Amino acid sequence: MGVCGPDPKVEDLGSPRKQPYPMDALPISYAAQQFRKLIGEKTPYRVVHEPQARNTRPYDSRPTCEGHNNCMPICPIGAMYNGSYSVYHAEAAGAKFVPNAVVYRIERDSANKRVTAVHYYDPDKGSHRVTGKYFVIAAHCIETAKLMLFSADEQSPDGIANSSGHVGRNMMDHTGVQVSFISGDKALWPGRGPLETNVIDNFRDGDWRNERGAYLVHMVDDNQVDLATQLAIAKGYVGRELEEQIRYLASHTVRLFSHNEGLADPDNRLTLSKTNKDILGIPHPEVYYKLPEYTVKSCEHTRGLFRDLIGLMHGTDEEWTPGYFPQDHPAGSTIMGTDPTDSVVDGFCRTHDHENLFIASSSVFSSVGTGNITLTVAALALRVADTLKKELAHA
Ligand code: SF4
Repeated sequence: MGVCGPDPKVEDLGSPRKQPYPMDALPISYAAQQFRKLIGEKTPYRVVHEPQARNTRPYDSRPTCEGHNNCMPICPIGAMYNGSYSVYHAEAAGAKFVPNAVVYRIERDSANKRVTAVHYYDPDKGSHRVTGKYFVIAAHCIETAKLMLFSADEQSPDGIANSSGHVGRNMMDHTGVQVSFISGDKALWPGRGPLETNVIDNFRDGDWRNERGAYLVHMVDDNQVDLATQLAIAKGYVGRELEEQIRYLASHTVRLFSHNEGLADPDNRLTLSKTNKDILGIPHPEVYYKLPEYTVKSCEHTRGLFRDLIGLMHGTDEEWTPGYFPQDHPAGSTIMGTDPTDSVVDGFCRTHDHENLFIASSSVFSSVGTGNITLTVAALALRVADTLKKELAHA
């Protein structure tokens, strides 16, 4: 993937590492430098580098990050990793990629122990059957549970790998809190370099996790001209004063958000809609989701911290995202565990019920921590690949 981060001998991120990250850490932007200085001088909090999958040297035929601040939704030059690069590698190694294929059924043998085939629709709803020795579901957590439930038949009326009844349960998201404000101190000039490089990491662990979830705070380094312009117009500025205000506000805007820890709750559940279907006749997913109290308390604590930071920076014009800020990292729905009565896969992502069916997805998470989930999904996928390599060598 190309992961960069600081040398653990130089900067302690609180997570033990045997060796340095493969690439040097990203340079610290001007805004992050100002933020680090202020927090370091006036609070007990630590602002540290965030390791991430952005190239700080040419790697995998992709260039070094040029710091143009366009990372979302996708890096235009490929300095930031995304899953398509792994697809290219898989194709080069001989994998066949079938675009626009929608798998709708998983077939098993008569003993219901092994998966024998998957069936998929092409865009014209032509049906195709693919056989194999091993099968890996590597989909989004919502699509994974949907497929497994929709594959119910007489042999498995509750769906595939669902003897526990936990397929579709334990859905989680990465809940957050977000605020932006205008710093009354000197200008930070956000908008140079990648969107996020620095985090406050004091609240990632502690005894208090008995009662409330951990969280990580990001100082977001994105260009604020859009927000500044809206604010200056709303304040009634016109002409030269409007231009001056846009410059002032864009250079003084601070945006903070958090990733708060989530817990699995079996009642947070995906089921298949009884009334709505897609164009292929596959039911829509329906999700019941109630934020766990553990996460609610964590978010309350985060709001308190943000208020302290706003005061420290003599902030004005606070804009809080109402309620909670969803970070769009859904997980759960086929969680990992040692007990086949309350989990769907074992520690190697193999389903308890079917020995040749694996799941490589955030759906196997049994909790959501404070970091973005992609690196963990990739690590789990590599674990699946290692098991398949070993077993296929002896098959
Ligand atoms: S700042 Fe973001 S968009 Fe620009 S090169 Fe770096 S990773 Fe890509």
